[in-house]
Amino acid sequence: MTQRFGAGAPDPDILVLLRDDPLLSLGLDARQLQLLAHDLRQLLQRQLDLQRVLAGLVARLARALLAGLALAQRIADLALALAHAETAGAGEIFIGVNALDYSGYPDCRPAFVRAFERLAGLATRAGVEGRRLRIRAPLLRLSKAGIVRLAASLGVPFELTLSCYQPARGRACGRCDACQLRRKGFAPGETT
Ligand SMILES: [Zn+2]
Repeated sequence: MTQRFGAGAPDPDILVLLRDDPLLSLGLDARQLQLLAHDLRQLLQRQLDLQRVLAGLVARLARALLAGLALAQRIADLALALAHAETAGAGEIFIGVNALDYSGYPDCRPAFVRAFERLAGLATRAGVEGRRLRIRAPLLRLSKAGIVRLAASLGVPFELTLSCYQPARGRACGRCDACQLRRKGFAPGETT
């Protein structure tokens, strides 16, 4: 609801409601009803303004939360995978991080992957008993074009994949960092 009423003019609906409802009219005369309708309209407008401010704050909070989740995402993903691997008795965990993303995401670096592997050795019964759990990151050192070539050789249905940070109704935005990097990966002759 974004309707704005003209300055100074009481909303006709409010005026009719006040005049015709014996409980609301309180025996007020026409002038007093006008004033009351004006005050109610002001209150309604303030409520609409407050709703807009709150909606903006909620949207900003949601964006901040999503950004925070993305920043530590690899730690959370690997921790869950490690717990599952320990339960299932698995010896390897695969993760699709790529070192080219390290500027925004430090947990995409080879050093992080190696450090987490050491952690897995210390934190699990398998590790303590000498059954080393390996973290495999097959895309870690590939270029974006290299990832596209590998995916094509494996028959990946690209039309079902998405790299976008801000997709709308399942479609990539085409502007974010992830979309631009993906486009470079598909560019003819691209090797980076
Ligand atoms: Zn995008």
